[in-house]
Amino acid sequence: MSGLSLPRFPHHLQQKRNNFRPTVLLHTPRPRRHQQWARKMKKTTVLSFTGEAEAAAEEADENVCANCGIAGVDNIKLKECSDCDLVKYCSTNCREDHREQHKHVCKIRADELHDKPLFTQPDGTHEGECPICFLPMPLDPQKSSFMSCCGNTICMGCCYAHIVSNIHDEVKASTCVFCRTPNLDEEERGKRERERIEANDAPTLCFMGTGGYEEGDYDKAVEYWTRAAELGDAEAHYRLGLMYEKGEGVEKDEEKEVYHLEKAAIGGHPYARHNLACSEAGNRRYERAAKHWIISANLGDEASMKALLPCCKGGYITKDEYGATLRTHQAAVDAMKSAQRDAAEKENF
Ligand SMILES: [Zn+2]
Ligand SMILES: [Zn+2]
Ligand SMILES: [Zn+2]
Ligand SMILES: [Zn+2]
Repeated sequence: MSGLSLPRFPHHLQQKRNNFRPTVLLHTPRPRRHQQWARKMKKTTVLSFTGEAEAAAEEADENVCANCGIAGVDNIKLKECSDCDLVKYCSTNCREDHREQHKHVCKIRADELHDKPLFTQPDGTHEGECPICFLPMPLDPQKSSFMSCCGNTICMGCCYAHIVSNIHDEVKASTCVFCRTPNLDEEERGKRERERIEANDAPTLCFMGTGGYEEGDYDKAVEYWTRAAELGDAEAHYRLGLMYEKGEGVEKDEEKEVYHLEKAAIGGHPYARHNLACSEAGNRRYERAAKHWIISANLGDEASMKALLPCCKGGYITKDEYGATLRTHQAAVDAMKSAQRDAAEKENF
């Protein structure tokens, strides 16, 4: 529908516009931890991968206890090391006896196994596409609306175009742009939400968590976000990460914060990844920070793109890498644009 020219947003429909508001996933906080990493960014030595673990992986005998050498046959079951995939043991004793010898390479391999999915570029963001215009969702959650009637999230461009195209029909204009359900009253909306919660619908659970948070009910927020996160919802993981960072509704816990941010980042959440990058930069691990920022910039995140300039000047990424990221970033930003999204934004919709 891009290229469509839209009339200005009519003021007598202001009320309709506000009707959408309660269902908007309210402001997702931007990362605030922008430390002065850019100034501190001097070249530091970073331990680089030595290939040690890879070599060990190739050498490792598939089905033999790494300590005593006994083969895994019918009556001898070998168990893999709990941290890596390099070795197997026939017993707890063998595992413990071998620990000292194994722990160095085990740590390297465990880090590799951890980093592989973490630094893989996702195909798109966690938001996917708008189910109406099929364009990638805007990164800013303010620019889309969760529909309580059908549980779909629709971009503001489509919500806006729906109202404008039904400008002379108030009843039609107030229906859901996706499922055409008339504007629901509080009771019916609650009923539908409960049904989807019972059916473990992750976007609805996440939406309920956000609702709780906006009301200041952090216990409710954590409860619903935890349920949504268990179903793999990246936004819920991100929000939980922020709760553990700030100690809201939970005890502050850096390990859990990072765990949830990483899950969100793997799921395509650019803000979560930007946060992780800021932490890495804060710990002077600039190469890891830059790797994160390249991925989130490629997904269209402005803050990450900006952060890459000092990374380039500091020598953490090459000029070619910077240029390539800039082009991918711009393409991602352009792909999220449309005439109706621009019009909605102009009207502050
Ligand atoms: Zn053994
Ligand atoms: Zn191991
Ligand atoms: Zn749309
Ligand atoms: Zn609907």
